[in-house]
Amino acid sequence: MRVGALAHETDFEGWRLAARQFRTEGLRPDQVRFAVGAETAQNGLFDIYFPPTPVEGKSAQEFVVPKAFVDLAGSVILHRSEDRFDLLYRLLWRLREEPNLIRIVSDADVADAMERAKNVSRASHKMKAFVRFRQAFDNAGERWVAWFEPAHRVLEMTAPFFARRFANMRWSILTPDGAAVWDTDALTFGPPATRDMAPAEDEIEAFWKTYYASTFNPARLKTKTMQGEMPKRYWKNLPEASLIPELVARSSVRTDDMVAAPASTPNARLDKTLARMGRDASFDEGFVPSNLDELDRAVQACRRCPLWRDTTQGVCGAGARKAPLMIVGEQPGDQEDLSGQPFIGPAGQVLDAALDEAGIDRGDAFVTNAVKHFKHEPRGKRRIHKTPAVSEVSACRWWLDAERRLVKPKVIVTLGSTAALGVLGRKVAVTKERGVALTQPDGARVLLTVHPSYLLRIPDAASKAAERERFVADLKRVRTLL
Ligand code: SF4
Repeated sequence: MRVGALAHETDFEGWRLAARQFRTEGLRPDQVRFAVGAETAQNGLFDIYFPPTPVEGKSAQEFVVPKAFVDLAGSVILHRSEDRFDLLYRLLWRLREEPNLIRIVSDADVADAMERAKNVSRASHKMKAFVRFRQAFDNAGERWVAWFEPAHRVLEMTAPFFARRFANMRWSILTPDGAAVWDTDALTFGPPATRDMAPAEDEIEAFWKTYYASTFNPARLKTKTMQGEMPKRYWKNLPEASLIPELVARSSVRTDDMVAAPASTPNARLDKTLARMGRDASFDEGFVPSNLDELDRAVQACRRCPLWRDTTQGVCGAGARKAPLMIVGEQPGDQEDLSGQPFIGPAGQVLDAALDEAGIDRGDAFVTNAVKHFKHEPRGKRRIHKTPAVSEVSACRWWLDAERRLVKPKVIVTLGSTAALGVLGRKVAVTKERGVALTQPDGARVLLTVHPSYLLRIPDAASKAAERERFVADLKRVRTLL
């Protein structure tokens, strides 16, 4: 076992040099670990590698990794989890054989790293929102000091934001990980601090309380969402937090007064559907559905792209909840949008008949779409299908990936190029890759074929019959894969 000795918890340069050395030596992830500071001394049984200084490190054998990985690693290393260095080394190791790995967001390691990077970014965002400076004085005069306990080690990453915003103030942010000090000219970092090093209270406290009470909107109170946005862990350092219990308790009375006025509705049809189904129209970006029902409810409130605006509802997948086969189409059509069920229109009928002929029971499969809302343009009284843009497919991929994680199919059939883009995360020429079973990092096999609506559009009867036969043959191949 080789141990990479790191100088401190966020020693990205040290990790990078050690990881590069280990990978160059061909050491597998299970032959490597990383240890920080004092912990290293306890590893007497192991072969410890001390990374050279960055200047010496330039002579180490070079190899290239995607910039996306370097950026991701730079964030993940700030996460408080102990196994973050190992996760990053595993990704680095796998990049040798899988150079496009970082683009495969359905891969368990990539998804894990992205989730941690997201947590780090969220912690930085919370720090920007919840640092509260208190007034203090020293020999040079007025100075502002804040005590803050970030969820992850984001002090150095976030301090430049405060230097830009409060450029003319002398301030310090003290945290258990270290201190950031701005003297109106330079930003420096010091050792970890304790809460008692920051002033306890000042006159600004009253200002924060007044401000918060006046901006508090009881009609928008959702306690869960509020705690998601302002987690309780930060309350103890927020002057205004002491007001929250009382404001929440009074909110229902104040809300009653406010609901008298009718609300305006940008899309009456959508609002009606949501009301009828008892679906929630709020959406928290950080929400991760733990089952398909939760996912369905959350999709109704998704605002990741503009497609929701002109629809009746979002249409999620349907079928067996732990299906070995997932069938992915492009997007719901007119009838699907109205009913909330995927593949029930003309293309769905073509699909059903072809599945039948191939010996596959649709009831055993999970049928869904790459995009959950119906993209269309009005023409007279009709709503004409429009192909979703790449950005819309990418935005909606989040939901498709969530469905994949929950259903865990062994085989995925993509119908048409939009579905292939949604599943594989890259543009695909279906005609070139059709019929090839592509193995995904999570072990699923992906088979590309055409969309049944393509068959409907072929005018010539003979060509239509031939294409349909090919389509059924693709589905028969799926059956053998299963
Ligand atoms: S199409 Fe997808 S990403 Fe866009 S709003 Fe609907 S669910 Fe969200």
